[in-house]
Amino acid sequence: MVKSDIEIAREAKMKPIMEIGAGLGIPSESLMPYGHTKAKIDLGYIDSLKDRPDGKLILVTGINPTAAGEGKTTTTVGLGDALNRIGKKAAICLREPSLGPCFGVKGGAAGGGYAQVVPMEDINLHFTGDFHAIAAANNLLAALIDNHVYWGNAVGLDPRRITWRRALDMNDRALRSIVNSLGGVANGFPREDGFDIVVASEIMAILCLSTDLDDLKRRLGAIVVGYTRDRKPVHARELEADGAMTVLLKDALSPNLVQTLENNPAFIHGGPFANIAHGCNSVMATKAALKLADYVVTEAGFGADLGAEKFFDIKCRKAGLAPAAAVVVGTVRALKMHGGVAKEDLGTENVEAVRRGVSNIARHVENTQKFGVPVAVALNRFITDTDAEIAAVREELASLGADAIVCNHWADGSAGTVDLAHHVVELAESRRAAFKPLYGDEVGLEDKVRTIAREIYRADDIAVDAKTRAQFKEIEALGGANFPVCIAKTQYSFSTDPNAKGAPTGHTLPVREVRLSNGAEFVVVICGEIMTMPGLPRVPAANKITLNAQGQIEGLF
Ligand code: ADP
Ligand code: MG
Repeated sequence: MVKSDIEIAREAKMKPIMEIGAGLGIPSESLMPYGHTKAKIDLGYIDSLKDRPDGKLILVTGINPTAAGEGKTTTTVGLGDALNRIGKKAAICLREPSLGPCFGVKGGAAGGGYAQVVPMEDINLHFTGDFHAIAAANNLLAALIDNHVYWGNAVGLDPRRITWRRALDMNDRALRSIVNSLGGVANGFPREDGFDIVVASEIMAILCLSTDLDDLKRRLGAIVVGYTRDRKPVHARELEADGAMTVLLKDALSPNLVQTLENNPAFIHGGPFANIAHGCNSVMATKAALKLADYVVTEAGFGADLGAEKFFDIKCRKAGLAPAAAVVVGTVRALKMHGGVAKEDLGTENVEAVRRGVSNIARHVENTQKFGVPVAVALNRFITDTDAEIAAVREELASLGADAIVCNHWADGSAGTVDLAHHVVELAESRRAAFKPLYGDEVGLEDKVRTIAREIYRADDIAVDAKTRAQFKEIEALGGANFPVCIAKTQYSFSTDPNAKGAPTGHTLPVREVRLSNGAEFVVVICGEIMTMPGLPRVPAANKITLNAQGQIEGLF
């Protein structure tokens, strides 16, 4: 019988976290232990590393996700372990899981099979409290806003134009749109409000892009919380909120160190949504890892059209990172779905569908190369994949000049991903990478979106109505002209139609709304429906999560 992720995680022989830190050369006084197997890394220590050379940064990204699963996180873990196995000093950088999806459909997000990070239960649940700190900082600002209005509203905030929302790390559709301050004069001025899940909060994006505590405070102060009657922006610093918010976040800014099942170092820090935000772990963690390891493998959320594009155009551009190589992860199952097979029929061999579905991964490979980064393809093997199906993927990709490397980390740990590790080392050592973002800072916001739509989504053009065009102009006038854009659209397709699988062409990207994230320093461009507070499914994962008689957690996977 195949063991569940949590059963495998429970059998892990974890080392004390001080030993993992020592392996990277971190002195024990620079690690702040949270129990025996988790620690935060001291910010002063990280700062002391700044003159060291950087290791090589490897991005793991993927095809457009399908219901069949792709395995970017497991591949990141497997590749990190395999690099260590072949004698490289490697670390991985991942996002922290959110409680919402854990209790919703996902059941956990710490890898799977024999490619996991541990302690799996802690990482998936409260971990080191970062998300709670972010919620507290977010909600402190919300409380200060309503309190400011209550005590006379000196800055003249228009209660109808308050854009700051409250946050909670839970999937709870009941809180999406609410009316607050009900119950009489003593409770303030009733107004429409709502909650976002913590990972969709601008504070999360800010924490993940900040380079030190001063930068964090500056960004928190720059948050636009709403507008006056004559539409002048009101910033968090005008409400004197930035100092107290920084205090709440000072420990959360320190990267967390844990380990893989094979006792290799893993930095797990920050977890912005890949739709409303930029979808990768913190700049603090990635930069620290690059000073401490020769290879750093990191994952960007969703498919490469959203995840890799934002990783390159937002995170790498802003933090001055230059990736040495990228890995696009695909599975035979998912490619079959891109080739038109329904989920129920995935068990049957279908070489023709695989050949059709390859169009999706091929386009992601081509797109990723546009950033000047050499690309490898990892085929994450499921036990149901047939040899003929795998051969078909390899053939189709070879004719496009890309090598698909079969990976078995889920079943075999690092031993299953040695080939990919050698290939990635070869790409990184070749020094072929000449990273460049897709567009320049100075390009107009609308043209930035048009460039991404044409080059990455392969749309004919974008559709912008007069109201949205005016929003672009307004945000440029407010100081956002040089910011990168953060596109929010469905992850299931290159287009905005989630059902358009494979490699659609001839579509138009409709731009619905534009929002300024002035503290995160990007402009969110909403294309299609986007959810900032998810709901739970009919049968949530929570229904199966429980403590057993031994006090162990069951039901996370
Ligand atoms: P992603 O990061 O792309 O969302 P994950 O790596 O988190 O995907 O994997 C999603 C789920 O699929 C996990 O529960 C994992 O255990 C499972 N999974 C990944 N690879 C395999 C595989 N090769 N065989 C079986 N299950 C897998
Ligand atoms: Mg993942």
